[in-house]
Amino acid sequence: MTSVSGSRAANATHKPLLILYALGRWQRGQSVVAFRQTEPDLTALMREFGAPRKSDHPERPFWHLQRDGVWTVHAPSGLALMTGGDIPRIGELRARDVRAEFSPDVQAALSTDPRLVAAIARRILERHFPESLHRDILRAVGLTLETTTTVTRRKRDPAFRQRVLKAYEYRCAVCGFDVRLGSVSIALDAAHIRWHQAGGPETEDNGFSLCVLHHKTFDLGAFTVREGILLVSDQANGTTGFQEALMAHHGRPVRDPQRPDWKPEPHHLEWHGREVFKGEARHCD
Ligand SMILES: [Zn+2]
Repeated sequence: MTSVSGSRAANATHKPLLILYALGRWQRGQSVVAFRQTEPDLTALMREFGAPRKSDHPERPFWHLQRDGVWTVHAPSGLALMTGGDIPRIGELRARDVRAEFSPDVQAALSTDPRLVAAIARRILERHFPESLHRDILRAVGLTLETTTTVTRRKRDPAFRQRVLKAYEYRCAVCGFDVRLGSVSIALDAAHIRWHQAGGPETEDNGFSLCVLHHKTFDLGAFTVREGILLVSDQANGTTGFQEALMAHHGRPVRDPQRPDWKPEPHHLEWHGREVFKGEARHCD
């Protein structure tokens, strides 16, 4: 089983997002993508689902994916390089209408086996993104996977959810949501603080029991938890729902688990604050 130690590389989710984007295009019969057309779409994907960065560099995955042997960039010779860099300036990629496509062998394989698009997409999602984001990413890149095969096979500890929910007494650690159908908790998840895909362990101290709304907004980085205090991102905003679901909890402590040794491990929270949380924390009195 693969695990990633330390912080993930800057582009750890950027290339996977580009591949998913290109697969979505492929599915719509478009094998070649122009940088000019890809740039705004990829930037939006990186901002929503990638690690937070101070500046956007969609040209990096677009250019560097060539190194992985699955991507061919068609660029005229003599493109001006970035100062001190090994890739062309972004303006050159735009102005010279640089285009790219999957490498010939990948295209041959995709054409031969129509199920391959879904298989690759599923594999990439499982390896790089938490399950709570899979549907959103697929929607964003315009990929359709057959519903009959969307059940993910994961080599993961099925008891994790139960242990984390028990640790938080079957309530959302943020809002206390604890709706049951009969005796079964519903719309309540065990969220990983440090993503499983980034080497996060399946232990109580790497989990929060969260309702689906807080799970999704936590995985998208709309809020984080620092030293037990919930902090809302200055990039998150809205009217209906925003006040009630997020700002009402800003600057307040999240619930503690029933045992002190199950409290979130600070390193995992730091990872979330660095790799998932978007922007800066809003002002807190
Ligand atoms: Zn909640």
